[in-house]
Amino acid sequence: MHVLITGGAGFIGSHLVDLHLAKGDQVHVVDDLSTGVFANVEPHRDNPLFRFDHADVLTWDRLDHAVGWADRIYHMAAVVGVYRVIAEPTKVLATNIAGCERLLRAARDGGWKPQVVLASSSEVYGHNDEQILREDQDLTVSSRAGTRWGYSVSKIADEALGMSYAQRFGIPAVIARFFNTVGPRQVGRYGMVVPRFVQQAVSGEPITVFGGGDQTRSFCDVRDTVVALESLATRAGRDTVVANVGNDREISIRDLAELVIQRSGSRSSIKDVPLREAYGEDFEDIRRRRPDLSRLRALTGFKHRYTLEDTIDHLVALARQEAHSHHAEQRGHDGDRTVVRNQPEYAA
Ligand code: UDP
Repeated sequence: MHVLITGGAGFIGSHLVDLHLAKGDQVHVVDDLSTGVFANVEPHRDNPLFRFDHADVLTWDRLDHAVGWADRIYHMAAVVGVYRVIAEPTKVLATNIAGCERLLRAARDGGWKPQVVLASSSEVYGHNDEQILREDQDLTVSSRAGTRWGYSVSKIADEALGMSYAQRFGIPAVIARFFNTVGPRQVGRYGMVVPRFVQQAVSGEPITVFGGGDQTRSFCDVRDTVVALESLATRAGRDTVVANVGNDREISIRDLAELVIQRSGSRSSIKDVPLREAYGEDFEDIRRRRPDLSRLRALTGFKHRYTLEDTIDHLVALARQEAHSHHAEQRGHDGDRTVVRNQPEYAA
């Protein structure tokens, strides 16, 4: 199969690259390396099945050609992370909506009908306070809080674009609403809570719990996410499907902080930070977020392989290894250590 992955050097995208290359598929990645890094796909550099283009989806001149080549396109390129969403609201809308539209238009104009897998987000449910979020519930954005909902709006627009092109031009769309994906290669720089807590725990800094800590999330290991996503796309075939993709174990942010401290044996304390201090005025946090996975399970029979503890342990080991290499580099030698793999293995 020919697989095009936009944003393929990013966090989730690069795990999809690993998965499809392990299956023997041809994989073409386009990434502007704004938040993704080439190191994420570097191990495949010499693989004849792998091709990489450093370009922005909005301006890439080979897009038509790549879309015509692809049997399946994973559109993962997007501006993500709460800090970036707050700092660059116009970029979020342009990149996320115009990028998706350009891709779908290229397929329509060429008369091609690749399967298009769109990365949506649990953010589309907005401040919906249902105990468990099901695909047929309403998508809500708040009229307060200025540009805070730009990311959510952009993902709702992408979903609408995917549905419209599917209905009007027969381009099948798989819309995956990701719920808090975590794991190796995710960075904390743009706000994501798990890599931040792990980094803070490993370096002995206070763990910053924002907004009280009784808000909840459900975290899914990226290595599960990509397996679920791939089987969803395969099972969907030529049908258009919207599905939650994640893990339904729910945990409060304070309990997460304690879990990270416990798993890492860290001496870090917990520091409460008011929401306003963390994100500025007018920010509304989501209080609760847990996916209903019945649709995903009914379609794919998917079972998770990683618990949150597994993921945290792995991330703690990677962070320690990185800290060790950094110190060793400064001291000018490699040090003795057991190498924790950043590269997961997927069965071919
Ligand atoms: N959060 C936190 N400390 C941090 C970073 C985030 O307490 O250092 C909180 C944040 O306010 C939110 C939750 O963790 O309630 C998840 O944040 P993230 O940005 O990872 O995901 P999202 O809010 O998009 O679900």
